[in-house]
Amino acid sequence: MKNPERAAAQAGGERIAKVLARAGICSRRDAERWIADGRVTVNGRVLDSPALNVGPRDRIAVDGEPLPERERTRLWLYYKPRGLVTTARDPQGRKTVFETLPADMPRVVAVGRLDINTEGLLLLTNDGGLARILELPATGWLRRYRVRAHGAVTQEQLDTLKEGVAIDGVLYGAIEARIDRPQGSNTWLVVDLREGKNREVKKVLGHLGLTVTRLIRVSYGPFTLADLKEGEAREIRGRVLRDQLGEKLAKAAGADFDAPIRQKAPPEPERKPARRPGKPGDGHRPRDGGKPREGSGRAHRRR
Ligand code: URA
Repeated sequence: MKNPERAAAQAGGERIAKVLARAGICSRRDAERWIADGRVTVNGRVLDSPALNVGPRDRIAVDGEPLPERERTRLWLYYKPRGLVTTARDPQGRKTVFETLPADMPRVVAVGRLDINTEGLLLLTNDGGLARILELPATGWLRRYRVRAHGAVTQEQLDTLKEGVAIDGVLYGAIEARIDRPQGSNTWLVVDLREGKNREVKKVLGHLGLTVTRLIRVSYGPFTLADLKEGEAREIRGRVLRDQLGEKLAKAAGADFDAPIRQKAPPEPERKPARRPGKPGDGHRPRDGGKPREGSGRAHRRR
């Protein structure tokens, strides 16, 4: 079967869901759901299918609001403290990463997630396309964790993880783990993985009889925590980002290093709810929907 993305590119456009995700307002999966919900218009017509290519001249809107203009692809290193959730809005009302970011940061999405009680390096970007590429297992960027685990384990047992392991029907890829040092009844380990499945470190070490009592991500691909302080965010310079991504990843992400940097916009005034375009009489849902965007695996910060 023909690859729809390649077909779109050949036709001189891009799939609508990709364009929405790249605008940093949602994941591709969210975009498809928004389309199915009738929230997306192209040139004034409500879409009912994501099978559409759009070009630079098409006018795209979500809930009647035009897409934000393209801005330069940017990336931040952020030291996530324990106790914050990596989601846009938490149904249980817990504090999110995005509520605690420095006030001068623009809208960003997270590259993957860290569990509430995990700390350490979280990459944040204003470019949904880049986030998606960096979190793909196929991209293969190494995630390194320092782990304090309760229980006894030998290096031999840890070495079995190099072959990959199936736990409760989930197949985890090769993991390299080594013992760093004991601390009382705990052991500090260094764990390297390239996939980033849900709760991967805890699940895999649990399988060996260990309980994780502290989990710190210290690096993600070429980027490290270095001297970042808890709660601090630091932008990677454009040149460094471009170099570290390389041409192939930058192209796959559709990164744009030439677009302007937009300054943080002032807070939006309270708006009267507008009608959903093309569906008179139907209730409007603001772009953020008032509920979490489930399933995207990352989160958003409003300007
Ligand atoms: N593995 C986990 O178990 N949790 C995280 O937050 C990250 C990796």
